[in-house]
Amino acid sequence: MMHHVNRVRSFARTSTARLSLSYLAIIMLMSIGFSIVFYNASSHELGRPPRDDSSQSADPTGFGPRYARDPQFDEFLQQRAEEGRQALRNRLIVLNLAALAAGCALSYYLARRTLQPIEANMEAQAQFVSDASHELRTPLTALQTTNEVALRKPKLSAAEARDLLEHNVAEVAKLQSLTDGLLKLARQDNQPVSHSPVSLQEVTGDAMNTIIHQAQAKDIAIEDNVPPMLVSGDQPSLSQAVVILLDNAVKYSPQGSTVHLSASQQGKYALLAVRDAGQGISAKDLPHIFDRFYRADQSRNKQTVDGYGIGLSMAKKIIDQHHGEIIASSVEGKGSAFTLKLPLS
Ligand code: ADP
Repeated sequence: MMHHVNRVRSFARTSTARLSLSYLAIIMLMSIGFSIVFYNASSHELGRPPRDDSSQSADPTGFGPRYARDPQFDEFLQQRAEEGRQALRNRLIVLNLAALAAGCALSYYLARRTLQPIEANMEAQAQFVSDASHELRTPLTALQTTNEVALRKPKLSAAEARDLLEHNVAEVAKLQSLTDGLLKLARQDNQPVSHSPVSLQEVTGDAMNTIIHQAQAKDIAIEDNVPPMLVSGDQPSLSQAVVILLDNAVKYSPQGSTVHLSASQQGKYALLAVRDAGQGISAKDLPHIFDRFYRADQSRNKQTVDGYGIGLSMAKKIIDQHHGEIIASSVEGKGSAFTLKLPLS
């Protein structure tokens, strides 16, 4: 865990330094370039002999006609011009030093602004890979241990071997669902969603079709009271989010209970609620259930309900992409309610 954080930080340091230097080089090249052009133009102007266009003006130098051709006056003018150039050079040097100082700060600021979102993304990815490998390790180790223990037995009966194989197949199926979930989660991370008008009834109808067999297997009824409403978003993604909520409601509810689906309007938003009369979520777990791989102790320890703590984090990602909100409330032992707040179309 620390390892990838350090890698991201050292990447941040070197790339910030490089990018700042590039920005600074551009700023200084422009500043020095302008200064040189400005200096050349001004010094040319300063070194020009007084104009002799007496036809237009009786006193072209401003010092009176009698000075116009005086060599001493010419020399004086040259001297003044040289002084002017010197003053200009000094000013331009000071100006460029100031540009260097301001440029340093500006380049650093711009480099940080450019790199920060990239770093955040890298860190999230590294975190994801590290969490995912951790999650994969646990079932793999369990699988390895049971197989090793069986192999160490001097005699393995056909029935025992069969048991072992069945156990292996079940574990592999779980691993498969975990990797499927991980892939979906990874894809969800960088998938832009469309924002077209979507019927909320279609969203819940689709989700119901997916979950109905699971619900029937537990004799759980799903009551759908969603009125016609149009929200803005991507229908398959929204259905996926509702599937996750319904799947949990069924998983964490007792045999024969009822799950309610309802919707109402609040300002510019639709509120879609999934309510169950299941085991509920403790106040300690409630703030964490949307974290990746988080499972309430009860769900993890009892080993009765399959899952990897991916569902809700995926649902939250989908709803975030829709500029909506997902709110959970629960009374332990009584049931839970998950509400999706989605912008109306
Ligand atoms: P999973 O269900 O695979 O464990 P989720 O991310 O979907 O992962 O849910 C995270 C945790 O939140 C679950 O392990 C469970 O403890 C809790 N949870 C989610 N939905 C419910 C619910 N409807 N009733 C009770 N607990 C829930």
